[in-house]
Amino acid sequence: MDRADLVHFRRRTLAVLQSAGVSLAELVYPPVCSGCGKMVGRRAALCGGCWTHVRFIERPYCEVTGVPFDHDRGDGLVSPQAISAPPPYERARAAVFHDGVARKLVHGLKYSDRADLAAMMASWMLRAGRDVVDDSDVIIAVPLHRARLFARRYNQSAELARALARLSGKQFLPGALKRVRATRQQVGLGLRARQDNVRGAFLTTNQQAQHFIGMKVLLVDDVLTTGSTVEAATRTLLKAGAARVNVLTFARVASQGGETLYA
Ligand SMILES: [Zn+2]
Repeated sequence: MDRADLVHFRRRTLAVLQSAGVSLAELVYPPVCSGCGKMVGRRAALCGGCWTHVRFIERPYCEVTGVPFDHDRGDGLVSPQAISAPPPYERARAAVFHDGVARKLVHGLKYSDRADLAAMMASWMLRAGRDVVDDSDVIIAVPLHRARLFARRYNQSAELARALARLSGKQFLPGALKRVRATRQQVGLGLRARQDNVRGAFLTTNQQAQHFIGMKVLLVDDVLTTGSTVEAATRTLLKAGAARVNVLTFARVASQGGETLYA
């Protein structure tokens, strides 16, 4: 088969499969469970086993920071930490704990082009963060630094933000926030080191700032650990004129290295 034949053959095969209801995405990624790789009936779905292992975050949690309470203190409560040291954002929410299958989903989104995963993850975020989504006018994603974006080609937080915008009907402002300092990976750093690491890391872009001045912003990231990153980004947005900032992440880390973040 010469090259022209081959191209023709591929096109015809694709046309046949598509007419049979097989999407291009299904040809590129086989319908396997995003958690364990087992074949499942539908793409971007989890098998029953993996599904039961996802730990969704439910109330009761601190109404400000979203930190789950380890014992039931009742709904509508604010943690002592959020009262003594209020974060710059209004409220933060997350869909799941960052462990097991959820961690694999984050990893899958980060290191491969999986827009289909982003759609599923964003639907979980919308469910968990309905209150903060409703309280926002525009959506902005926590950006990667240019160097890291180049290496990865792909900003996972922007993909979640885009999918969330599609589901919620809110406007996504890509590129509104820039990472001007290539920060070290936050992994393994203590709270103070993380805060230092992200200080001054963000800038807003002039063309986009006009779209969020006076607006309620929903800041989207994939994982929330200590909150230092979203807090730094929130301060930058408020300084640039955002009316207020809510935070929504896919996952949140329950504790780190034995040290409980909010004891
Ligand atoms: Zn599975």
